[in-house]
Amino acid sequence: MDETPEKRNYLGILFECCNVYARIHRTKDGTAYEGRCPRCLRPIRVAIGEGGTSQRIFKAR
Ligand SMILES: [Zn+2]
Repeated sequence: MDETPEKRNYLGILFECCNVYARIHRTKDGTAYEGRCPRCLRPIRVAIGEGGTSQRIFKAR
């Protein structure tokens, strides 16, 4: 079931709203990463697809 090599519990995010880089952490159930922009506190959620995420850095718009 757990075939993903993704073992990190965080994801790098570039928040385009404030042009700032930050890390967001994986949810307890492991289905997504959730966090907030450190400047404007805008919430973001990135779902983890089948096989895990392949991208290392996401951009939040
Ligand atoms: Zn922001």
